[in-house]
Amino acid sequence: MNKIYLDHAATTYVKPEVIEEMTQVLVQFGNPSSTHSFGRSAKSLIESSRKQIAALLGAKAKEILFNSCATEGNNWIIQQAVKSLGVTRIISSEMEHHAVLYPVKAWQKEGIAVEFVKVLADGQLDLVHLESLLQNNQPTLVSLMHINNETGIINDLVGIGNLCKQYSAYYHADMVQSVGKYPINLAELPVDFMVASAHKFHGPKGAGLVYVKSPLVLQPTILGGEQEKGYRAGTEAPHQIVGMAKALELSYEHLEAEHTHIQALKQYTLEQLQQHLPGTEPNGNPEMTTYNILNVRLPLSAEKASMLLFALDMKNIAISRGSACQSGSGKPSHVLACFLNEEQGAKPNIRISFAENNTKEEIDYLVAALTEA
Ligand code: PLP
Repeated sequence: MNKIYLDHAATTYVKPEVIEEMTQVLVQFGNPSSTHSFGRSAKSLIESSRKQIAALLGAKAKEILFNSCATEGNNWIIQQAVKSLGVTRIISSEMEHHAVLYPVKAWQKEGIAVEFVKVLADGQLDLVHLESLLQNNQPTLVSLMHINNETGIINDLVGIGNLCKQYSAYYHADMVQSVGKYPINLAELPVDFMVASAHKFHGPKGAGLVYVKSPLVLQPTILGGEQEKGYRAGTEAPHQIVGMAKALELSYEHLEAEHTHIQALKQYTLEQLQQHLPGTEPNGNPEMTTYNILNVRLPLSAEKASMLLFALDMKNIAISRGSACQSGSGKPSHVLACFLNEEQGAKPNIRISFAENNTKEEIDYLVAALTEA
């Protein structure tokens, strides 16, 4: 059996068509800021990618800005909501990715009010609590992700966004785990800011994007040039941007077929785990989690659990416990800690995240490896 990769929420392989396009662009080495023909062709590649991505996401081209990754995008929006928009309070959730939580907590230390929405027992956000927080009339940024990267729990993006509109708060959504996985029409979504990252949808690492709903304007955090209309200085990477556009195009071209295959595989995985390892339980209501992420608690002793990922790695199986940043740590997940009770939280958990090239045979091999663990 070849190596088995079931960690696609951490990152995805780059599709061959994407590599091909990126390679062609790498050969055209012009600096997009140069006014000669080398520069102009590089610039035009960036602008046609911007139009293509905007069209795929239902945005205007001027609302899409390119950067290096979603961490950068989240940091920029959260920093500039305070500096450029005069926000004095941020409402978020303890289940956010650290790329949101850390900049939010950094503002808290600076005296910005920070409030966290309560989480219900099934891992859903308590929107009644969100509404009660919003009633206090204060310039507010709400920063709540669309799909959680550890559990796959889908937040009610539209419900949250409508509440934000109703109470005149800005809404920032980390949409890293949904862009390229679900149809998205930003023109119709009540979202002011969102971020995405190419390496989560079979594009290259080092390429991200931010959406800023027109006519909102944020000031730059990185200074030093007029790139990205002055909002993000630094020579652009045309090959990364073209790769991101191609990857997004492919994701949407094959969305339906891939969704169906992956959803069936996720269902099969849970059934097999529950059959061969009775006591396996999903974290988060499966009805309310995304089709490509399965997070489960396993009926294994703490002793076995501590070596589990290592044992699977020895069998050429790549999965993780939570976000890639913490999967090597023995600490309990900050996301699961928000809604599991003590007994549930004490059980070892794993996150299995799928792509279209995973097969039932791979799942059988994983389940056998876990049963032997
Ligand atoms: N937000 C979410 C929900 C993620 O899953 C990730 C990646 O794990 C990030 C942000 C950070 O993305 P990037 O690797 O592009 O910085």
